[in-house]
Amino acid sequence: MIAYFVMECAIDNNMPTYSGGLGVLAGDTLQSFADLDVPVSCVTMLWKNGFISQKISEDGVQFDGIQDWDPDKYLKPTDIKTKIPLGDDDVFITAWKYIVKGINGYEIPVYFLTTDLEENNAEDRKICDRLYIGNNIMRLKQEIVLGIGGYEILKAMNYDPYIYHINESHSAFLITSLMKNLGDINKLRAQVVFTTHTPISEAFDSYNMQDVVSMLNRYINTDIIDSIYGKEENKLNLSWLAIENAKNVVAVSRKHKYVSQKIFEGYKLKYVTNGIHHFKWASAHHKMLYSKYIKGWEEEPYLLSRVVSIHDNEFIKAHELAKSDLIEMVNSETGVSFTPESFTIGMAKRVTQYKRNNLILHNPDKLIEIAEKTGDIQMVFAGKTHPLDNIGKSIIQSIYDASRYIMSKTKKIRIVFIENFDMQKEILILAGSDLWLNTPTRPLEASGTSGIKASLNGVPSFSVYDGWWLEACNNGVNGWGIGPRPSWEDLTHSSDEEDLADIYDKLKYIILPMFYDSYTDYVKIMKTAVSTIIPYFNSHRMVSEYITDLYLTAMIQRYQENCRIGIYNI
Ligand SMILES: *Cc1c(COP(=O)(O)O)cnc(C)c1O
Repeated sequence: MIAYFVMECAIDNNMPTYSGGLGVLAGDTLQSFADLDVPVSCVTMLWKNGFISQKISEDGVQFDGIQDWDPDKYLKPTDIKTKIPLGDDDVFITAWKYIVKGINGYEIPVYFLTTDLEENNAEDRKICDRLYIGNNIMRLKQEIVLGIGGYEILKAMNYDPYIYHINESHSAFLITSLMKNLGDINKLRAQVVFTTHTPISEAFDSYNMQDVVSMLNRYINTDIIDSIYGKEENKLNLSWLAIENAKNVVAVSRKHKYVSQKIFEGYKLKYVTNGIHHFKWASAHHKMLYSKYIKGWEEEPYLLSRVVSIHDNEFIKAHELAKSDLIEMVNSETGVSFTPESFTIGMAKRVTQYKRNNLILHNPDKLIEIAEKTGDIQMVFAGKTHPLDNIGKSIIQSIYDASRYIMSKTKKIRIVFIENFDMQKEILILAGSDLWLNTPTRPLEASGTSGIKASLNGVPSFSVYDGWWLEACNNGVNGWGIGPRPSWEDLTHSSDEEDLADIYDKLKYIILPMFYDSYTDYVKIMKTAVSTIIPYFNSHRMVSEYITDLYLTAMIQRYQENCRIGIYNI
């Protein structure tokens, strides 16, 4: 069995156990594992109060609250319990179970860990309250619960995984447990896979060694801690812990491999480019369209290459229906009235500095001039920012300010910000837009996935050449690139001015004229987006690569060991 560890996991829109792309990717990955009958168990955390719920005042200030939900409705408690010594306390951990069902009925258990148990003191009961919120010591406890607690919970259930997949370094403490149990660095390494998602080394989780030792000294001999850590003096950095102890280290796109190779100098990385679950992210209208014309696409994302052969009228009809769903949401949630004929740009994702969510609004007068000259523009923004991210908050505020200014100057542009972004809103926005905008600072978008979801619904990406898009983009054929196309080795950062000028130029001279004056050509790009992108950038292909490139050696080894003792499966 493969144990897949992740700090956040987005499975059901009613379970706020995620914050963004990492959790959504985990959910898609598990669905593909289940569809493909891969023996996996997932370990994640039961965030009782979620991440944040978002409300925004009229002048653009984000107010955030907890995300209240009822785990009882979605998860089953289990009687599995373990305890780990954490500092002076013993912390009890239990797991709630969720089953991800595959298309052919195969079941993958997901164990949501929690310390919210009567046996624990009030403070430790709160360890699983909020995702990514709390001080450094709280986060350290959370990561110990995920890594070590998760390892012990699996052991308590008599699982004996041959692969531990550390999906982003939050769970890297499980290496400590493996070391304690195996006592052999080579055996340990052979069982560990680490996927890195963060292209900025300053963002790696790092703790004072003193704090780690005082938390773990009753769990493990401190000599062992020294023997497997010890990169930085007096610090424990989880990404380095993972990279030094994993046989396979993986980046999430080809470009990200080059970026990570620079950070982890001297280590060899592989890459498996991220993908999306093709069935999960299709709008209801596109599901119907594809089921009508492409039999079997539910099981075989590769078949979507045939979308080019669907008649334009039918294809356009599905898009119009998706667009009218979006407009209905916009018109009911905001005071602005969208119209179906108008060119609509979607831009929804976490709000944070490197994503540059407000870049397109940097020169409002230029945008007004473009709309006056070419045709109406509607824009839908959405996304939460972390409560402590002041830059993120100012980005949201600037979107509100620019919208107000622009809409007071012209009737030809309508801009809305949809509050409290989640997966359901994501589908509405990405399938109902005419163009999906993505403007991260290059090369900081490790992969990105929202543009793939848009492409699945026939909505072309207009994106900076970074992450997955650098592999997928054929400019003017299946979408459009923004700014210069860098070489793989070029790690320079993009310039706001250069990218912005290209956004305005392409909108004014290429994209808007094509949409308004030559829609058949536009539809061709929409269809080509589906048929050239989805056959590769899907999570079935991604997990198939995990199996062949990352898991297979350990799988075979386990199989051989089992055969020796008369068990003929893995
Ligand atoms: C897909 C998705 C993301 C990731 O978006 P990127 O633009 O790739 O960063 C974030 N949040 C939600 C809810 C998503 O569905």
